[in-house]
Amino acid sequence: YQRERHLARTDGLTGITNRWFFLELLSWEVERFRRHQRPLTLAYLDVDNFKTVNDSYGHSVGDQLLRSLSHTLKTNIRSVDIVARLGGDEFALLLPETDYRSAQVVVTRLQDKLLAAMAVKSFPVGFSIGVVTFLSLPESIDEMIELVDHLMYDVKNSGKNRLKHEVFSASS
Ligand code: C2E
Ligand code: C2E
Repeated sequence: YQRERHLARTDGLTGITNRWFFLELLSWEVERFRRHQRPLTLAYLDVDNFKTVNDSYGHSVGDQLLRSLSHTLKTNIRSVDIVARLGGDEFALLLPETDYRSAQVVVTRLQDKLLAAMAVKSFPVGFSIGVVTFLSLPESIDEMIELVDHLMYDVKNSGKNRLKHEVFSASS
């Protein structure tokens, strides 16, 4: 039973949390937020030029890249932080009780570590990252996700391989 539960929560390729379980964890953290009102940070990360790697080096190299990326993310954050593969080359980070300054420390550290890990293996990719620190909650979880997703696509559409970090609060 334990094994089945683990498999249901885990992305088969990379061994990190899958989309389904990530959404579950996000709704738990949102409940916790409603009670304790501690800042919560959500980040979306997308690999730039992943398709080029897949097309020119083959899918097994693409898979290696995704595994290496997941490993780097997983080993450079605290065990209370959550990292998940949402699908394809899209990843998410959920940092409970993490304010703007701390989130900035974590995400820039991850960005550096990721670029270093990719450089070691000569993978010609970068990362478009959207980060929102929530000081209050929008109407719904869908709206939270939309804000972060939009920010990530902003980065994609404005030159890629960068990080945008904003604050959401009801009064802003
Ligand atoms: P720092 O690395 O400059 O981190 C500053 C603050 O950013 C931390 O303050 C924490 O609030 C936040 N932060 C950094 N990394 C993470 C992370 O992976 N997840 C989350 N959720 N927040 C993070 P804090 O906790 O007072 O730590 C102060 C300093 O202590 C850190 O400065 C670092 O130098 C050291 N430190 C604490 N824990 C670790 C650790 O597990 N490994 C290492 N190498 N250093 C640590
Ligand atoms: P952990 O809390 O699960 O953190 C895992 C890894 O995330 C750390 O491995 C480090 O690479 C990164 N990390 C987490 N927080 C920070 C931070 O504030 N700053 C920086 N620069 N990196 C951070 P690491 O350093 O090998 O630590 C392994 C484990 O040892 C940590 O697991 C934690 O349980 C413990 N630990 C290490 N340093 C500290 C510390 O200063 N305070 C506390 N409370 N625990 C620490």
